[in-house]
Amino acid sequence: MSELRVRFAPSPTGYLHIGGARTALFNYLLARKEHGTFVLRIEDTDMARSTEESVQAILDAMEWLGLGCDEGPYYQNERFGLYQQKVMQLLGEGKAYRCYCTAEELDTKRELAMQQGRKPKYDGTCRRRSGHPDLPHVVRFKLPNPDGQTTVDDRIKGQVTFQHEELDDLIIQRSDGSPTYNFVVVVDDAEMDITLVVRGDDHLNNTPRQILLYQALGYRVPQFAHVPMILGADKKRLSKRHGATSVMAYKDLGYLPEALVNYLVRLGWSMGDEEIFSMTDLIEKFSLDGVGRSAGVFNPEKLLWLNSHYIKTGDPERLADLLKPFLAEEGICVNGGPDLIDVVKSLQERSATLVEMAKGASFYYLDEVVFDEAAKTKFITADQKLMLSTVAEVFSQQTEFDHSSIEKAFAVIMEKTGLKFGKIGQPLRVVLTGGTASPGIYDILEIIGRERALKRIDRVLALIEKK
Ligand code: GLU
Repeated sequence: MSELRVRFAPSPTGYLHIGGARTALFNYLLARKEHGTFVLRIEDTDMARSTEESVQAILDAMEWLGLGCDEGPYYQNERFGLYQQKVMQLLGEGKAYRCYCTAEELDTKRELAMQQGRKPKYDGTCRRRSGHPDLPHVVRFKLPNPDGQTTVDDRIKGQVTFQHEELDDLIIQRSDGSPTYNFVVVVDDAEMDITLVVRGDDHLNNTPRQILLYQALGYRVPQFAHVPMILGADKKRLSKRHGATSVMAYKDLGYLPEALVNYLVRLGWSMGDEEIFSMTDLIEKFSLDGVGRSAGVFNPEKLLWLNSHYIKTGDPERLADLLKPFLAEEGICVNGGPDLIDVVKSLQERSATLVEMAKGASFYYLDEVVFDEAAKTKFITADQKLMLSTVAEVFSQQTEFDHSSIEKAFAVIMEKTGLKFGKIGQPLRVVLTGGTASPGIYDILEIIGRERALKRIDRVLALIEKK
């Protein structure tokens, strides 16, 4: 076990976003690589926006990606006693104060500041005013050294200095008694002994305030690493306009978790020109040194390319299991049909997603193939009658129906009909699959088997007869 303790601290106000997943992944990889501890903390202090479903959605997505935590999940809403105690500590030490300013007073001040061209920040009235704690109030942290500055020594961004005059007396407890994000995040990161905070750089501006709070509370300040945001192709922050942003939406679209993990890590981290990384590679190779300072641009084609790579190279048995819900979605029942693992093997080279694979698998299982109209017009014609009858005749006499016997049967059919391979293969493909694009004809025949093949040929011969 090393000293390293990192955490992922999502707010359960929606699904797990691609950006959040990448933050979780970076933390997970650092912990695994250095034999440290990965803590999961659910930041649900915002009661109005946090939901049970979102918590579950986040946990499900992390599990799907394989990002198991070592500690937690901790829930902030179970830790209010601790936060209360820390607020009292700061009040007792004169480092925080109760603020009784009303919303109207604050609005007036804000407007005045705007009119005078000043930054609208709290003017510190209640630093000098005392009121009765029973009256409605918030608690503010007294900004230490208002003329000073605080430097964040960031592992990714380098040194970033903030002038205190840009800050004001931060509210750490709302009038309903609930503590605010910047306060609880400090208490928790400190109490959970977090040594390195890795998070999105949308939080960089919060960091000087948090450092001041660590110091005021007498805690050791952890290290920070702020990861650049993810942008869409138009260089705007990634949002639904750019496609699916939820991790689990990718599961539903037929992506494999290893493809998403590989994609996410490369979105901000690199090691030479290498593109393919398994989780095991990453645990060995990932480091903050390879994380760039500029934002990553989300590229759906690259994700799709990675997914086809992992489908091509995946274990057919596992893929078959993962494929089942997608087949069900297509209304396909595999019971009594060709062996699903064989079907998967025949489709691995040709499917970029499991959705595509399920669609590609359907012809294997249908009682009656559904013909593509153009293919039907071109290939299901009287011209094919002789050829198809010959195929049926030769196949009926086959005792074996494996790859090499099918190949031999084809030689006989070519001989008998005087036709070249293409003139047999392509119409037969339409007969067996309904379309002109499919795995190799020998593979299909072997997988569906002689009986089913004959049935399909007979049906087409009957169709031609009817015409
Ligand atoms: N709960 C915060 C968020 O979801 C995370 C804050 C942090 O990592 O410090 O944005």
